Amino acid sequence: MRWKGRKQSSNIEDRREQESGGLLKSKSSFGGIGFFVILVLFLFFGQGSNLLDFSGGKAKEQLPQNKKQADEAKEFIGVVLQTTEDVWSKIFAQSNQRYQQPVLTIFSNNVRSACGRTSSAVGPFYCPGDNKIYIDPTFFTELSRMGGKGDFAQAYVIAHELGHHIQSLLGTSDKVTRMQQRLNSKQANKLSVRLELQADCYAGIWAHHTEKTLHILEKGDIEEALNAAYIIGDDHMQRRAGMGINTDAFTHGSSKQRAHWLKVGLLHGSVKKCDTFADLR
Ligand SMILES: [Zn+2]
Repeated sequence: MRWKGRKQSSNIEDRREQESGGLLKSKSSFGGIGFFVILVLFLFFGQGSNLLDFSGGKAKEQLPQNKKQADEAKEFIGVVLQTTEDVWSKIFAQSNQRYQQPVLTIFSNNVRSACGRTSSAVGPFYCPGDNKIYIDPTFFTELSRMGGKGDFAQAYVIAHELGHHIQSLLGTSDKVTRMQQRLNSKQANKLSVRLELQADCYAGIWAHHTEKTLHILEKGDIEEALNAAYIIGDDHMQRRAGMGINTDAFTHGSSKQRAHWLKVGLLHGSVKKCDTFADLR
């Protein structure tokens, strides 16, 4: 992805190291087992959460991040956020709406938001309560370790969270939350999956329009994003965790579904095409 030197968004809030401690005080002891426990907990109980997360789990590790790496991560996130602002402002303007830009908070270890205190272990998330996206950049290291390599895979993660912001602005997430309150967890999960798949599709819309205007894509980028979508599919995550496939516990969609909806967004660049709820009507 050709991103270096591009304009960065001013809506970045860097809260790294400000809020460490708390949930993950004993960081050194929080390795692979912690990740596994959290992953399992999330796969089974994640539905009750009031935040829209990305993948449902990540390992939290002590990675010696030097300042240069940290700055580069921030720069990258800033550039991607700027491109999402450009794309979504235009799309909203086409239907005479003003796009409200979200703030993206970069944090480390854990963070306080309108959604409560959240550990990095849940991965990047969007909090509808304060309309902010929260990312601990060490998630990208974990994603890469899980096989989701490449900068465009990371951009897709950011664009997916942006997708949740769009859903919040359009009233989709509120509508789904209200419907979920009347359903059992199995049925509620099914709606959660549709919301997540739509966020993947919206990420595709971002990629479609950003490529059209800025020609950011390099060879292999699309594959990186599709591969990341596959890696974080619920079935893949369950297999990784050594569990049988339990589709009732899916909250984000299968690998195949996630890659499919990302592709739909990529190909068409249209919000209308991202109607992951269509067959429910
Ligand atoms: Zn999500």
